[in-house]
Amino acid sequence: MVSKMQLHTVGETCPGYVYNEGSFGVNSMETEEKLVSCETCIHWEKGKCNIGLFDKVLTDLDQT
Ligand code: SF4
Repeated sequence: MVSKMQLHTVGETCPGYVYNEGSFGVNSMETEEKLVSCETCIHWEKGKCNIGLFDKVLTDLDQT
């Protein structure tokens, strides 16, 4: 299982991250920062990265 923390960390590190405007429907909220996470990325689909970057980024993170 991946944790929210991992999704967040991967999102911040991932070269393929693209913020998905419609992901949470929270655009009207006054949040100071958009939460960068795989969950708000356009490539995140049904709990998976649809361009296969997730595992790669996670592995790279582990090696630091
Ligand atoms: S969903 Fe894929 S492309 Fe998007 S941030 Fe996560 S690993 Fe990167």
